[in-house]
Amino acid sequence: MAGKYIMALDAGTTSNRCILFDHAGKICATAQREFSQFYPKAGWVEHDPYEIFNVMLGVAREAMMKLGVTASDIAAIGITNQRETTIVWDRTTNQPVYNAIVWQCRRTSEYCSMLEKEGWEERIREKTGLKLDAYFSATKIHWILEHVEGAREKAERGDLLFGTVETWLIWKLTGGKVHVTDYSNASRTMLYNIYQLDWDQELLDLFKIPRSMMPEVRNCSEVYAQTAPEYLGGPIPIAGAAGDQQSALFGQQCFVPGSVKNTYGTGGFLLMNSGETPMPSSHGLVTTIAWGIDGKITYALEGSVMIAGAVIQWLRDELHLIDSAVDTEYLASKVKDTNGCYLVPAFVGLGAPYWNPYARGVFIGLSRGVNKSHMVRAALESMAFQANDVLAAMTADSGIALKELRVDGGASANNILVQTQADLSDITVIRPACVETTAMGAAYLAGLSVGYWKDSADLVACTRMNGDEGREASKAEEHFVPSIGDEERQIRLKHWQKAVKCAQYWTEI
Ligand code: ADP
Repeated sequence: MAGKYIMALDAGTTSNRCILFDHAGKICATAQREFSQFYPKAGWVEHDPYEIFNVMLGVAREAMMKLGVTASDIAAIGITNQRETTIVWDRTTNQPVYNAIVWQCRRTSEYCSMLEKEGWEERIREKTGLKLDAYFSATKIHWILEHVEGAREKAERGDLLFGTVETWLIWKLTGGKVHVTDYSNASRTMLYNIYQLDWDQELLDLFKIPRSMMPEVRNCSEVYAQTAPEYLGGPIPIAGAAGDQQSALFGQQCFVPGSVKNTYGTGGFLLMNSGETPMPSSHGLVTTIAWGIDGKITYALEGSVMIAGAVIQWLRDELHLIDSAVDTEYLASKVKDTNGCYLVPAFVGLGAPYWNPYARGVFIGLSRGVNKSHMVRAALESMAFQANDVLAAMTADSGIALKELRVDGGASANNILVQTQADLSDITVIRPACVETTAMGAAYLAGLSVGYWKDSADLVACTRMNGDEGREASKAEEHFVPSIGDEERQIRLKHWQKAVKCAQYWTEI
């Protein structure tokens, strides 16, 4: 086996990271650096594509240096990335024509509303599986072509290329030789037909985007090219790519239909492997591509919760109820329940499955005896209730009774949160020892394509088995099983539903 390690490049929204994994899925070295966020107007968010690349190159070199390895020690590179973020550059000069427009950027919201009024919502969903929204890349590319001087003419001449962040990194790392994306990232552009597996001509026409701008769509686990030798001291195969949430699903080894993961970060991201046929949602979820391997597509159902860990930041920064996020566990453990109060943190509206941008937060059910611990507990429970609403939508769409939920993200460290999830969802919640699942997914995809791991069974065997030579990836995974009865569960869910109604009615009254 050439190369002892797999390099994962994790291109996040606020920082880039490089992690070097070994054959047992153990983290051997890591380096991370933040990069600049630009907010040119209210609701606009941009990144500098050069900075994204330079910071990534910096952390890759740093991680290699920490471990004292050279390019020949690295078997392959896998990339995972903030999804939907849009970069357009000149294929000859390699110069971006504008900053990267970040997934969070709302500058094209009005354009989306206009398209909705024209009746495009259903058509777009039928083709892409997505909800017509400014998050996805299509309207961001359209904006660049409409607003950057000379961009449209250049694009029509075939001089401009589009890419999400992994495409840009691969282009740069190969010295401008390879213009590719992978199925999972393609499925987030709102231009990719997830049924026909091709860029959709009707949508390209709608958004006035020349087909020549679009990258070639490749498998998530495949050697795209070698890095140009000058960057990392020698050529290394770039052998895998996936959007961050899909990568986490793969990193959690959710390989069978019906397996689900939730990432409790600032927001909450739930993805369910829904198998080889795309499953349209009638319960407020989006249908997307989990990954494509050997030309075989695995689809996913996805639902996002807008405020998850952010509710804990609110307790800390605005209410000053806690000094740090970890305090929540101790405070919540001082009481056995929330004393009848519920918090719906609809600070920016409600995401899946409600999609109500007008809802606002409510703290409800307050009585004289409610104290700080009860409120903190209600905040933790709000993360679990919201995730449960998405899980219920997944069950309703798929008809699959979910048995296990695998969790990761910063807030998954909280035992009360994870136990509450098991209780409310009547499901076993599994927390792996290593919650770096996003980077692990990219490493696994890359490792599989170069034979570092033979196949998914080999991967599971190497990284999950308990052993004494550092087989750590899931060594001490913890299982949380439901501890309440059905009657109590139903009562709590009913109260939560009432609280959600209040959050929604608030702006209507
Ligand atoms: P992101 O990748 O979105 O930045 P992370 O996965 O790093 O998020 O998770 C950070 C979030 O998790 C923060 O919103 C923080 O409030 C929350 N968090 C971190 N630790 C805990 C904890 N022990 N209990 C509850 N919430 C936590």
